[in-house]
Amino acid sequence: MWGSEVIDREIAGLVDRSVAEDGLVVVLTGAGVSAESGIPTFRGPEGYWTVGSAVHTPQEIATAAMFARAPEAVWGWYLFRLGVVREAEPNAAHRAIAELDATLSDRFVLITQNVDGLHQRAGSTPGRTYEIHGSLGRMRCSEPCQRELLPLPDEIPAKDRDEALTDHERQLLTCPRCGAWTRPHVLWFDEAYDEAWFRLDSSLDAAGRASLVVTVGTSGATNLPNLVVQQVVRSGGALLDVNPEDNPFGDLARRVERGAAIRAPASQAVPELADRIAVAASAPR
Ligand SMILES: [Zn+2]
Repeated sequence: MWGSEVIDREIAGLVDRSVAEDGLVVVLTGAGVSAESGIPTFRGPEGYWTVGSAVHTPQEIATAAMFARAPEAVWGWYLFRLGVVREAEPNAAHRAIAELDATLSDRFVLITQNVDGLHQRAGSTPGRTYEIHGSLGRMRCSEPCQRELLPLPDEIPAKDRDEALTDHERQLLTCPRCGAWTRPHVLWFDEAYDEAWFRLDSSLDAAGRASLVVTVGTSGATNLPNLVVQQVVRSGGALLDVNPEDNPFGDLARRVERGAAIRAPASQAVPELADRIAVAASAPR
């Protein structure tokens, strides 16, 4: 009897064949994975923010242009989000991905659009976890004085809406070298990917060497995830999309010869899929 509810025989066969090719297994995650841990996408009402007398959307706040005008207000938004993230816990999908990382070791790469750090908290290996949109847990100088990433100081508290920074907090968010504001280490809407901070080349390289990519909870709305998926398909890798809703990656996965879309929540589908991948990777051949 076939025991799986979300992985049918066809998908299992696709997993087995692609993993047997010995290429990388790449998992690419988006906001859908974290939504099941209670982290909103911040495109709803909690994403709107007052700067001066005007209310702004996340697409307006999360920009270098806004930070240049109102650094404290932008920091306020990120410290509000930090509170949500600190209260969240990794879910079954995060844990299953971390176990797969441990099992497959250097055959595995995780590319994540999420800045919440939940993959690392679940145990994913930092060296093969590419945070392509940065991390709420880190900051860097807002001026070109150094490229080094700094941990967000533990003393920095999460803030409520409309709660101003204290002098001490402003001091903690100051570059120790030049005295300018630090800024959140996240990729803003008016900025470009690079390798040193956002693993652009490493992500594309992993895609080119992948025999299987699993996209999870991402709408494919941003540039680098699209490039990664296109690269995998172009080089002959298989594409599996996990998402409860239709999205461009699911559409593509249904169209390509080696692909399938799994319409299920990440916390349900990913553990089953990860088990199948782990078994396929350990099969003698
Ligand atoms: Zn500096």
